[in-house]
Amino acid sequence: MTAPVLVWFREDLRIADNPALSAAAATGSPVLCCYILDEESAEVRPRGGASRWWLHGSLAALNVELESLKAGLLLFTGAAREVLPSLIKESGCSQVFWNRRYGPERQIDVELKERLRDEGIAVTSFEGRLIQEPGRLTTKSGTPFKVFTPFHKAALRAERSSEPLPAPRSLPAAPVPARLLERTVALEALRLEPTKPDWAKEMRASWTRGEEGAHERLYTFLENGFQGYATMRNRPDLESTSLLSPSLHFGEITPRQVAHAARHAIDSGRSPASERDFESLRSELGWRDFSYELLFDNGEIVSTNINRAFDAFPWRDDAKGLAAWQRGRTGYPLVDAGMRQLWRTGFMHNRIRMVTASFLIKHLLIDWRHGEKWFWDTLVDADPANNAASWQWVAGSGADAAPYYRIFNPVMQGEKFDPNGDYVRRWVPEIAGLPSSVIHRPWEASASVLESSGVKLGETYPLPIVAHAEGRQRAMAAFERMKSESGPSA
Ligand code: FAD
Repeated sequence: MTAPVLVWFREDLRIADNPALSAAAATGSPVLCCYILDEESAEVRPRGGASRWWLHGSLAALNVELESLKAGLLLFTGAAREVLPSLIKESGCSQVFWNRRYGPERQIDVELKERLRDEGIAVTSFEGRLIQEPGRLTTKSGTPFKVFTPFHKAALRAERSSEPLPAPRSLPAAPVPARLLERTVALEALRLEPTKPDWAKEMRASWTRGEEGAHERLYTFLENGFQGYATMRNRPDLESTSLLSPSLHFGEITPRQVAHAARHAIDSGRSPASERDFESLRSELGWRDFSYELLFDNGEIVSTNINRAFDAFPWRDDAKGLAAWQRGRTGYPLVDAGMRQLWRTGFMHNRIRMVTASFLIKHLLIDWRHGEKWFWDTLVDADPANNAASWQWVAGSGADAAPYYRIFNPVMQGEKFDPNGDYVRRWVPEIAGLPSSVIHRPWEASASVLESSGVKLGETYPLPIVAHAEGRQRAMAAFERMKSESGPSA
C-alpha cells in the first residue's frame, strides 16, 4: 500500500489557495490532515480568549470542508516537537507538507525539518500566508526594510500575478491506525470555547468563522464597501471595511485571494470601485506584509521596543487608568465606544484602534505592552505581527512609526470620523440621547441638554479621567525626559 502523506495545518485553516494541501493532493497518495494545539512550546505565545473562541469555529469549519473531500482533521495537543514525529511514526507517513510561519515558532519548524529529514521523511514547506514573504526583499544596501513606502513599492514590483490555487477536488483518504486515533482529541476537549460564563454570545452573533464565512464577508465587502474604500475606510460608523482580519489571521482566506477578487471585481465591471480604492486595499494588505517583515526581522517585537531609545521612557503605573480604559469608562465617548465594541464583539475599527491606543500610551502614559496584551486577549484577529507592530507604531517606538508628538485628540477624531455620533450611540447607549454637537464632548453640554438627554456626568457616564490638554502636555514632557536620558537616537 502507498504510504500516506501528512498535511500539518497551522494558521492556514482553509482548503482553497493552500499550497501545502494542494501539493499533498498532487502526490496521489492517501492524505492525513492534522492540527496540533501547542500550548507547551516556549516559542508559542498562548492565544487570548477571543482568539481561542475563533479557533474553535475555524477548526470545526475546516473539518467539514476536509470531510467534503473525503478526509478529516485529526486534532492533537502537546508540544509540536514531540507530537509531530510520533504521529508520523504511528501513521507511517513518508512525507510532510506545511505552509511556513514567520514568528518565533519558526524555530520549531527549522528543528523539526532537520530531524524529520534525518529520519528519512521528506518535508516540504510553502509560502501561503502573505503576498510578500518576509526576508526576501531588501534595500539597495542589502538590509531589511524599516520604512513602509519603499518596502511596499518593492513588493508591488516583485508581485507575481498568478491565480490563487483552487481547492483540491478530492483527497484520497488515508486509513487512520487505531493507535493514532486513540491519541487524537475531540474539538470540545480542547476547551477553546467559553462555557461558564459563556461570554461569546455576541461574538457568535457577529461572526461566521471558517473559510465559507470569510468568502461571504469578502463578497459582501466587494458588493457594498469596496466602492469608496479609499476614503470611507476611516469611518467607524459605516460598514466600510472588509472585516476580514480574523479570517486572514487564521488563514481561512489568503491576501492573494482578497487582492485577486478585488482586482477582478473592478476589471469585470462588477464593482464600480476605483483604482484608488484598489490601491488603498492593496496598501493595507501591504501593511500586513510589512508587519510580518518586522516580526521576522525582530522576533521580540511583542516585548521589546524596536527603537531602543524608548527603553528609557518614563511610563506611569496606573492600575485605575488601565481598568477605566479596558472597560470603556474614560469619559471620552469615542475611546469608550471602541473599547466596548472590542469587549463585546472581539473587533474594533482600525481608526479607533489608533485612537484608543494613543489614549492609553499618551494621555495615560501607560506602557504600550499593557495595551498590546489587552488587545491580544480580546481581539478575534489578535495577530503577533499586526498587533505588536501597530502598538509600536502608535507608541512611536516602532519601525516607520508615527512621530511621538502625533497625539490623537479623541474629540476631534470623533467629530471628523463619526460626524453624527452614530458609532458612539451604538456602543455607549447611556449618552445616546445627546445631540450630535456634544456627543463627543459631553462635559461641554449645558445642564438642560444633559438633563433632557438623561445624562448625569460622573454618575451615568464618567467625566474625562484626564483633560486632553493636560494629558498632551504630560506626554510631551515625558518624551522630552526620555530624549534627554537616551540621547539623540530618540
Ligand atoms: P480592512 O480595512 O478591510 O483591511 C484589509 C486587511 O488589511 C485587514 O483585514 C488586515 O489584515 C490588513 N490591514 C488593514 N489595516 C492594517 C494595518 N494598519 N496594519 C496591518 N494590516 C492591516 N490587525 C490585525 O489583523 N490583528 C491585530 O491584532 C491588530 N492589532 C492592531 C492594534 C492596533 C493598536 C492598531 C492601530 C491596529 C491593529 N491592527 C491589527 C490593524 C488593523 O486595525 C486591522 O487589521 C483592521 O482594523 C481590520 O479590519 P478590516 O479587516 O475590516 O480591515
